[in-house]
Amino acid sequence: MKNIPGFCHDLLAWFSLNRRPLPWRRDYQPYHVWIAEIMGQQTQMERVVDYFNRWLALFPDITVLASASELQVLKAWEGLGYYSRARNILRAAALIVERHHGKIPSEYEELLALPGIGPYTAAAIMSIAYNRPFPVLDANVQRVLARLMSLDLPLRSAGAQRLLRAEVARLMVEENPRMFNQAMMELGALVCKPRHPSCGQCPVREHCRALADDVVSERPLPQPRREKIRITMACVILCHRGRIYIQKRLADDVWGGLWEFPGGRLKSGESPARAARRELLEETSFRAGALRPFRTVSHCYTRYHVVLHAFFSRLDQDSAVPVLTAATSYRWINLDGLDAFPFPAGHRQLVRLLKKNRKNG
Ligand code: SF4
Repeated sequence: MKNIPGFCHDLLAWFSLNRRPLPWRRDYQPYHVWIAEIMGQQTQMERVVDYFNRWLALFPDITVLASASELQVLKAWEGLGYYSRARNILRAAALIVERHHGKIPSEYEELLALPGIGPYTAAAIMSIAYNRPFPVLDANVQRVLARLMSLDLPLRSAGAQRLLRAEVARLMVEENPRMFNQAMMELGALVCKPRHPSCGQCPVREHCRALADDVVSERPLPQPRREKIRITMACVILCHRGRIYIQKRLADDVWGGLWEFPGGRLKSGESPARAARRELLEETSFRAGALRPFRTVSHCYTRYHVVLHAFFSRLDQDSAVPVLTAATSYRWINLDGLDAFPFPAGHRQLVRLLKKNRKNG
């Protein structure tokens, strides 16, 4: 980039006229910026705004958040995925109250010391909340820069990351980092989109090397594709005296702290029904009566495609107290009571189907 002042002027002038009125942009409160940044990772903006507004209604400030239960926080996060983010927010809130009198630190190193805050989030809080010159390199900014520079390396390569960091530091508007970072992110979200960038309406097209070289469609270079790993699972919706059994997953598990119907992965050569019965016995020591197929649901995660076979069964023993081996607690709950608990995506689909099933008789 040759004309850096011209680029920054064009970018900021466009942003001042075109920025979306997002709720955390009203006053850039550090608490709001922090929550919005964590929610925004891997999530579309419309969903972030919905979740953010609901979150603030439940937890209007850090003190209220720090005194919330994990169940309340996970329920507010339900559907956003990557649940360790929600648990980390809760742990960080407690530390902020304990060590920083409820105020989010304004020093980069202190932010990094909090659970769930890495270099990206710390830089976003430092620049957007505190207006300090820390460049932010999210997916949007990386794509915009790769096109502006006509970078001919895959984005995730070490060489590309080094060049991107150097370039964004060179471009950063020291006197207004808050607006610079947001303008770069907004340009990527609204104009320089992953597919079909609107180069004709782009405020910085004069500065774009990929456009000048007519290689916009080839930038950034595609990443080598990773196939999704397919996982088949089975679970039991166990009923007893009008109630359904659910259990809370272990804290260090992939969906730690969320609730589920007991079950797990099929072993090699095992049928879904056999796996469901085995998993129930291993995880709870419950013996199930006859299994009746309910539904098979599937859900795609970043790296996995999970197929989940669900079966109905009744408890086939007198004691309704489990011996837990894969959970920290349990409940026998009626169908309407399930709404109060956070579930991973596949199990949440089953809850919805159970309620629909009841409605249809
Ligand atoms: S001219 Fe096109 S490719 Fe270049 S930054 Fe603008 S939208 Fe992106």
